[in-house]
Amino acid sequence: MTFDEVGLSEELLKAVTAAGYSEPTPIQAQAIPSVLSMRDVTGIAQTGTGKTAAFVLPMIDRLAQGRSKARMPRSLVIAPTRELAAQVAENFEKYGVNHKLTMALLIGGVSFGDQDKLLMQGVDVLIATPGRLIDQFERGKLLLTGVEMLVIDEADRMLDMGFIPDIEKICKLLPPRRQTLLFSATMPPEIARLAAQFQTDPKRIEVSRPAQTADTITQYKIPLKSSDHKARRTAIRRVIESRDVTNGIVFCNRKSEVDIVAKSLTKHGHDAAPIHGDLPQAYRTQTLDKFRNGELKLLVASDVAARGLDIPAVGHVFNYSPPPNSDDYVHRIGRTGRAGRTGESFTLVCPEDEKLWDAVVKRVEKSVEDYMPEGLAEELEALPSDGGRSSRSRGRRNDRNDRSDRSERPARSERSERSEKSASRESSKDKEKKQSRGNKSRGDSELLPPAPAGPVVGLGDHVPAFLQRPI
Ligand code: ADP
Ligand code: MG
Repeated sequence: MTFDEVGLSEELLKAVTAAGYSEPTPIQAQAIPSVLSMRDVTGIAQTGTGKTAAFVLPMIDRLAQGRSKARMPRSLVIAPTRELAAQVAENFEKYGVNHKLTMALLIGGVSFGDQDKLLMQGVDVLIATPGRLIDQFERGKLLLTGVEMLVIDEADRMLDMGFIPDIEKICKLLPPRRQTLLFSATMPPEIARLAAQFQTDPKRIEVSRPAQTADTITQYKIPLKSSDHKARRTAIRRVIESRDVTNGIVFCNRKSEVDIVAKSLTKHGHDAAPIHGDLPQAYRTQTLDKFRNGELKLLVASDVAARGLDIPAVGHVFNYSPPPNSDDYVHRIGRTGRAGRTGESFTLVCPEDEKLWDAVVKRVEKSVEDYMPEGLAEELEALPSDGGRSSRSRGRRNDRNDRSDRSERPARSERSERSEKSASRESSKDKEKKQSRGNKSRGDSELLPPAPAGPVVGLGDHVPAFLQRPI
């Protein structure tokens, strides 16, 4: 299929040609005509398959007619992170060069003053992260009753980040008669339920099986005998050095790991910089720009920071450890091998990662070869141990990934996270209680010697006779 056949206007086709695209990707070929016919669409296709243009292109044509009113955006795109929202905005700029559409961007870290002026004048497209949008709505800065089109991008990640209550809230503020488009790389049942709730008779478009890695990527596992940080850092460095890397992304499960690994790589002469949710927005944007322009070779990233980022031609992906969620593995690997290019991925797997790794292998349904750069095994053997402080035992829950990114987390999900935490604390207390009951005594089980094997007298199973006397 060619772009001429999907039903876009001449102006748009010109912009698409200028962008250098010769034909639509499968999700674009299927989604664009449906969006143009004003149907609700649920689009599922793996990362890097051009989902953004699948909704941005037809939206531009749909919005070409009509006028915006002050404070009443005509369309709304919600994305889970600032970077993704900014990327959607770039897409609107790129494809909208021949149109006079106006746009505002509501994301953390961007001054609201300018955006407010734009909103006041009236915009055709408003792109926002959920938290920021609700914030500005509650301050009376905008009205959502004029929204004709709603896009929920990266819907599966929204779910992960606890944004679902916010999306529900936002949807209640929108007119019921609207077109709703939902795009996602995966379709877990919760997302399917969400889609059903907010869409009317949506057309479900699924390209290939969801959450599969592209065939153009060769995946390798680096089996490690220890989970020492030093061993991991050495291994990741040697693997990078053993390949011809032009640009690559090193993924870590925790923000603290991102910092440590970036620092370590830099210390050893590599051109690397960190990106995660706790870093200032200006720094993140700058780092990403450098990486895109080829001025930075290695981006060390957490999952959320890197999710769906449009970074063309990444040759290599390195995983400091397998991600806790096998979907994230697919997303990480999706950073390479885009648009038919070849790519390589390497994942460090220590014994305690084996369970996560099994889930990954099951998910990708591909055999992954072991890889060991020359001399690495010997070098690791010779390393002094870092005292067994494995990455897992040292990490804290709220350090994991960007999921504690306060600035963009809705207050409500913070609350639910807190209650989740206290629930987990309770459950560990419960466990303790059970354990102490098992020890046939009261008090803090950690302070007690292990329970003796034989029958116990005292306040254990043995009930003193005076308690059995009728009152
Ligand atoms: P997704 O949202 O599915 O992860 P993106 O929308 O970020 O994917 O697009 C991934 C890359 O593919 C981007 O670099 C984009 O410019 C490029 N791209 C989009 N459409 C096409 C096309 N029709 N032909 C070639 N490249 C495309
Ligand atoms: Mg995307």
